Parts: sequence; structure tokens; C-alpha cells
Amino acid sequence: MILELDDLTHRYGDELAVDGVSIGVGAGELVAVLGPSGCGKTTIVQAVAGHVQPSGGRIRLRGADVTDDPPEARQVGIVFQHSTLFPHLTVEENVEYGLKARDVPPGHREEVVTRFLELVDLPEQREAYPSELSGGQKRRVELARALAPEPDVLLLDEPLSALDRSLRVGLREEIARIQAETGVTTLLVTHDQEEAMSLADRLVVMDDGRVAGIGPPRELYESPPTPFVASFLGRSNALSATLADGTPPTIEIGGESARLPEGCEPGTVTGTVDCHVRPEDVTMTVGVTDGSGDEDDVLSLQGVVRRVADVGRRYDVTVELETGAELVAERAARPPERGTRVEVRIRPADVAVFDSENERV
Ligand code: ATP
Repeated sequence: MILELDDLTHRYGDELAVDGVSIGVGAGELVAVLGPSGCGKTTIVQAVAGHVQPSGGRIRLRGADVTDDPPEARQVGIVFQHSTLFPHLTVEENVEYGLKARDVPPGHREEVVTRFLELVDLPEQREAYPSELSGGQKRRVELARALAPEPDVLLLDEPLSALDRSLRVGLREEIARIQAETGVTTLLVTHDQEEAMSLADRLVVMDDGRVAGIGPPRELYESPPTPFVASFLGRSNALSATLADGTPPTIEIGGESARLPEGCEPGTVTGTVDCHVRPEDVTMTVGVTDGSGDEDDVLSLQGVVRRVADVGRRYDVTVELETGAELVAERAARPPERGTRVEVRIRPADVAVFDSENERV
């Protein structure tokens, strides 16, 4: 591992901002820390950079413990949410700044600056001042400045959050390209799940200072380890169900029951459980069926359409089930109107089941 956080903890007075976080980032890997505002993301970045002295735990870079080292002794490059370019220095001087601080000789500095301005596709803006650059160009200069000293780790703290959406998506692609070309080990923190999922090799989902889930983005999305990950990554319908013992166990909602897939083990607790199912995994047919065609492994539930939201490339249909619970189903084609009786079908393989201790079944 190039970067290791081992049981990192930080308090601001009584506020426990980071609570026993352990993360490893391998060579060339991009790990994204994703979580809502206030979950401790920035504190983690600041601790790695050396701007915050953690209350507990260790930080290692290339195996060396740097927890007590000052920022300048750490080989770390950072890009923040807001521009930190020096306004009175040109693009070239800004990028050169970090090289001077690391005592790179002048002749070599020029060559390095040229190489990194080419990398971020800004060779022509060499003499420009930050005030003459667009928001996107400033981000690129900052990336060049952070990367030029060839740090052990690149830290990106909400690097795209201050930009408008179209620019954000374009620059996201640029970050992916630059990261792949340089092979720099990267820790990205963001609250934007699309950004995190599209860029990360591995994702760390944070909830209130703690790690709620860690793994490849697709794996966490399809098989969330906690209810928080299920609802924070993408959209999720939460339904209450009854879990009955068996191998595999069955879940029951509104008198309908279905076997969970092979391999599911009842958690420590049976009884009432929390089920999470994604809107894209809920299918819907108009009318009431007699249930005779039901397979054992599908939950068929009756309900009434309560709302239809046209969100452009799909419709979100809210159905009120006979149990009183509501769930959202996605439809690509024009959906039935409000008040229509429908049957929704859910495959237990698409349901994440959590027992009352929030343990995955
Ligand atoms: P955001 O995206 O809003 O910046 P974050 O996930 O980056 O949030 P942090 O900024 O690390 O979270 O903050 C974690 C918690 O610590 C929050 O509850 C915040 O209010 C608190 N906190 C952060 N900085 C300080 C500080 N300097 N003094 C006191 N409390 C702080």
C-alpha cells in the first residue's frame, strides 16, 4: 500500500469527526471517499496532508509513519474545491512553485513545467495569470501544480464541486485520463456519487465519521453491506418484511412470500427485517392477477399507482402497496396513470435484506 490510514480518529472538541477509519490505497489506485456533508471527508484529507494532527491512529506513506511529520515533509499533492492558485503568479510560476520548494534545479524545472502543462492540455496558457483563466482551466493548472513534484499521493478534495455540471463531467473525464497516464496513487473525497462511482477503483462510503462500506463501486451498489450504503448509493426502496427461518430463509411482505437466493443465511435475528430494492429492479404490470402463475422465487405485490414523475429518460412510478407501504418503480415506456391497479414483481435476488441489527442476511 502507498497510503495507509490505520484506525484514524479525530475530534474537534467534543465533536467526533472521524471515528476509527482504516483505508489502504495501493500503487496507482484511485480510492474515492464518498459521504454526505459533515461525515468527516475533509478532515481525512487534512490529516493525510498534515494540516490536521489526528487525535488517534496512524498515517503511513510508502510504509513510513508520517503521522507526526509536518506537511512539507510529506510527498503529497493536493487540489481543493476552491482555487488556491497565486493570483500574482503566472500559470508557469504557479506550477513551478512546488518544484522550487523541493529544490529542483532551474533547468530541470522548466522541462517539468512544460511536461505537466502538456499533460493537462494547457501549454499555450503558460504566461497567463489565473484571472485570465476559466474555472475549468484553473482546475487543470492546479492539477499540474499538484502533480509536477511527482508526489507519492494525490489528494483531491471535492475538486469539481464548485463547477457547473457540464464542466464537471468533462473534467471528470480529464481526471480519469490524467490519473491513468501518470499512474499517480489518488485519494478523492466527494459527496457526488456519480463522480465517485465513475472514477474510483474502490469506494469508501462514510457515515457520520465511520466507514459504512468499502469495495469496488459496482459491488457496493449491487450488494450494499449496510442500509446506509443501500440508500446513499443510488436510490433504494425500503420495505419492512418478515424473515422466516429456513435454508435459505424466506421473506414475507403483505402475505406474499418468496425464498431468498441460495447462500443467504438468516442473521442473528429473524422476525421483522428491512428490505432494500432499487427502482430499476421493480417490474410492474397493469391489473390484478390471480397469482396462479407465480413462481416461488418472485414476490408479486398488489398496489395502486399514486404518482408518476416524468424525469426525461424514464418515468418514476410511485405505487402504494396493499400493505400501505410505497415503493418507486422505474419505467422506460409511458406508465399507467394515477389510480391504476398494478402488480409489482420483485426478485428476492435483487433485495438486500438487513436484520434488526443492520446485519446483511
Ligand atoms: P463537508 O463536505 O461539509 O465539508 P465533510 O464530510 O468534509 O463535510 P468535515 O469537514 O471533515 O466533513 O467535518 C466533519 C465534522 O467535523 C462536521 O460535523 C464538522 O462540523 C466538524 N468540523 C470540521 N471542521 C471543524 C473545526 N475546525 N472545528 C470544529 N468542528 C469541525
